[in-house]
Amino acid sequence: MAGTRQHELVARLDTLEEGDAFDVIVLGAGAAGLTAGALAAGAGARVLIVEAAGLVGGTSALTAGTLWAPGRYGSDGLSPAEDRVRAGRYLEQLIGADDLAALRETFLDEAGAAIELIERTTAARFVQRSHHPDYVGDVDGAAIQGRAIEAVDFDGRLLGPALALIRPPLKEFTVLGGFAPNRDETAAYSVIATDPLSAGSFRAALQAAPRMIRHVGDRVRGRRSSHLTMGNALVGRLLYTLLSRPTATVLLHTEATELVTGDSGVTGVRLRSGTVGRTLTVRSALISATGGFNRDGARRAELLGTTPERWSAVADGNRGRAHRLLEGAGAAFVRQGSDAFWAPVSLPARRDGSQGVYPHFALDRGKPGFLVVDSGGRRYLDESQAYHTFGETMIAHDVVPPAFLIADAAAVRRYGIGAVRPGGWGLRRRLREGYVVQAGDPARLADALGVDNDVLRQTIERFNADAERGLDTQFCRGETPYQRNLGARGREPNPSLGPLRTPPYYAVRLYPGDIGSASGFATDERARALDAGGRPIGRLYILGSDMRSIMGGRYPGPGITLGPAVVFAHLAVRHALGEDYAS
Ligand SMILES: Cc1cc2nc3c(=O)[nH]c(=O)nc-3n(C[C@H](O)[C@H](O)[C@H](O)COP(=O)(O)OP(=O)(O)OC[C@H]3O[C@@H](n4cnc5c(N)ncnc54)[C@H](O)[C@@H]3O)c2cc1C
Repeated sequence: MAGTRQHELVARLDTLEEGDAFDVIVLGAGAAGLTAGALAAGAGARVLIVEAAGLVGGTSALTAGTLWAPGRYGSDGLSPAEDRVRAGRYLEQLIGADDLAALRETFLDEAGAAIELIERTTAARFVQRSHHPDYVGDVDGAAIQGRAIEAVDFDGRLLGPALALIRPPLKEFTVLGGFAPNRDETAAYSVIATDPLSAGSFRAALQAAPRMIRHVGDRVRGRRSSHLTMGNALVGRLLYTLLSRPTATVLLHTEATELVTGDSGVTGVRLRSGTVGRTLTVRSALISATGGFNRDGARRAELLGTTPERWSAVADGNRGRAHRLLEGAGAAFVRQGSDAFWAPVSLPARRDGSQGVYPHFALDRGKPGFLVVDSGGRRYLDESQAYHTFGETMIAHDVVPPAFLIADAAAVRRYGIGAVRPGGWGLRRRLREGYVVQAGDPARLADALGVDNDVLRQTIERFNADAERGLDTQFCRGETPYQRNLGARGREPNPSLGPLRTPPYYAVRLYPGDIGSASGFATDERARALDAGGRPIGRLYILGSDMRSIMGGRYPGPGITLGPAVVFAHLAVRHALGEDYAS
């Protein structure tokens, strides 16, 4: 049934009439655009989702599918209402009273109800993570668990042929030709890889077997892995919803070339797909959700000039081309303290010869047996801090990248390093291609990296002495709940610290890579685009990474981009279609 609907959902531009009218036209089929489309179509609105790429999902499909949503379930044993108050205090302490405070208040007031509505009216489902702390644990109001929710895995077979429309997960996060373990499975597979004969490993293998068998079956049938996890699960669930919405249409390989405006704001949009062009009428809302500016050459040069695009983990279609049209309609692009969101990344080669980008979010750098030095051989940051501030620190540091993530053999065996998996899977290939550097002792590692021998030796000695005591006297590593959570569970007194003593030693080059836009278009609390004078532009809404982040360039916790993306999608649709649109 879903397969039949797919042909109705995805159309070609030449099947639309010149002047055709839609209630809602969405540019961009990532999490923000798909959520807005699914909600609006659920209310019976005629919806057109216009996607420039040949696949849906954008950067959202590459994510962990985590949303920061205070007030949905409550945190740390507090009720949703109490959590909302504490989350407000947390953001106030962390970000202060800037011009985005009203948007943050709206987000906090609405997040719980918005997520509940999305779960009730679409196929999106979320689960609360048991232990997923906010990123700045020493600020009043920070929570240890409950605010981060994650997309529940999805059976992609329900999509029929539309499964092939979803952008696959980051290759660097998959194994065995596209198998993408979810968070729990990643932990289970590490046990299998590092301690294969243990009881835990046996249990994990039993648990993994059905998924593995299905994956092999998928590959034999020549299709992608049908068990969708994380960001792919979120996108799959939204696409599944749209397949059952008769008033929704998706156009692929199509872009807007002009916004038609009048005294009342945006009234239409000119679209192009290959040689075909159509001008369509917008009745209620034109929503821009094209995923931000990270791959817009001109804007990137202006805002992120010191970091090349090849360090970016953002989906390659996010070229910001719709932004010129928004500016033409008067929308104001506003910069933040940090224009982008960051993570330390390394650059493994892919089998097809292209370059991959591996974001070091959680699996190695904050574990015992790892440290990071600059190209002078000195530590210069807390390796267990959140990825965004890690990236910012790399950029602010006066020694240019790469930095080096260094580990000993015991740590690499247990946790892997970057694209090398726990158990050392893939190590030989990565050594061959030069992604990983190996040496028998610190002096030879320093030589291989072109780092001063004595400096690196002293750095490791000092780090090891601190690690033995469980106290990082230089950078206070592993002291907040987030940092401890990144470390090795149960290891005391400091889960994040362990000495490097077992040869050989390994290193991977690290760069500050961008994972999203923080600067973007100004909006009001209903996601309406604002002009330079702060006036809303009629029928024009901005969502997701196109919208200026409400966090002022800060990264308070897991999911602070996808959380606001879907909550403001609901607020935009509610404003465009009326308060009771979902009743
Ligand atoms: C590896 C990784 C993991 C991450 N994990 C998380 C996480 O777990 N939680 C979180 O909150 N954030 C996460 N982020 C950040 C998050 O991915 C983005 O903030 C989010 O995906 C933005 O969603 P979006 O819908 O605005 O854009 P996207 O998902 O990027 O979608 C934009 C879509 O618009 C299309 N498009 C571009 N230009 C045009 C045009 N002119 N016309 C039509 N279509 C166009 C693109 O092809 C794309 O499909 C992660 C980022 C990365 C790189």
